[in-house]
Amino acid sequence: MTQISNTAEMRKFLEEYDGPSVRIMEVCGTHTHEIFRQGIRNFLSPKINLISGPGCPVCVTPAAYIDEAVYLALEKGCTITTFGDLVRVPGNVKSLQQARAEGGKVKVVYSPIDAEKYAKDHPEEQVVFLSVGFETTTPSDVIAVKNAIRDGIDNFALLTANKTMPGAYEAMASSTDAYLYPGHVHAIIGTKLCKDMAEKGVSGTIAGFTGEELLTALSVTVMKLSEGKPFFVNAYPRVVTDEGSPAACALVDKFLKPCDAEWRGIGMIPSSGVELKDEYAAYDARKKHDIPKMDYERKTGCKCGLVLQGKIKPNECPLFGKACNPDHPIGACMVSDEGACSAFYMYGGQS
Ligand code: SF4
Repeated sequence: MTQISNTAEMRKFLEEYDGPSVRIMEVCGTHTHEIFRQGIRNFLSPKINLISGPGCPVCVTPAAYIDEAVYLALEKGCTITTFGDLVRVPGNVKSLQQARAEGGKVKVVYSPIDAEKYAKDHPEEQVVFLSVGFETTTPSDVIAVKNAIRDGIDNFALLTANKTMPGAYEAMASSTDAYLYPGHVHAIIGTKLCKDMAEKGVSGTIAGFTGEELLTALSVTVMKLSEGKPFFVNAYPRVVTDEGSPAACALVDKFLKPCDAEWRGIGMIPSSGVELKDEYAAYDARKKHDIPKMDYERKTGCKCGLVLQGKIKPNECPLFGKACNPDHPIGACMVSDEGACSAFYMYGGQS
């Protein structure tokens, strides 16, 4: 493999690459935005195709989940606590923003731990935290439940839609030649999954988030692809170790169990989510507040599912920049700060 050692050389290599065309999926929404923000797409060789994948937690949360949250706010009188992005995501009937305008109590918090603290300070309210995200953020959702048990409060619950990456990596493998694996996910779960994927023929590189780390990961990926054999490289060793964070994994395993999960626009991926174990049902909003089954998906013309699978680019959606824009989002990918459609819109993406 050619050795290149500095940023200018990496840029030159990626600019002048003239080998076989390659498709690289940046799984993580933060990678998508950073690659745009650093201007990396602007100089990549046309033989290097970057595909935005399903790693934005808000984007993959189905509309029916928003319907459940709206139901809790308007029909059950719960206080919904959530990160800001989810408030604007359209449900099948309305968004949480609209529910709030109709009198629902929807409070933006910075963390699930803050949500639990709010519940402790407001015992007269039934507080529900919208628990979405991947392996990176799930441990803090679990800590909130642990704190509720410690504090002896019974007015706090999670509405879970937490996802896990292994099922998604398998499901998207045919859309890409190699993954740019999300560094923060693998800081928690370690590298074993990536090694196993390479043994199954799926290649990838764990990437960090600075411009230099992204250039390194992309250069390594393109060079390794040209060798023609499945590979795995950890290009973020300052943060990602082989074992990850056993303490965080043990905490999650104590409270949560695997479940099938619905991904917006993609459908059900077996064992690609986690939910609270039966012994913690008192903190599971679906069980505690008896939410009726909601799995309907209204047709809107949104192509988020195809975008999240890397089958089209955001600007190939007929609604992009016209009916759908950040002021009037039709799909979650245009709402979230990590969404591919929002990144394309914000940075004028065309490649
Ligand atoms: S541009 Fe809007 S409608 Fe089209 S896929 Fe993206 S979020 Fe959905």
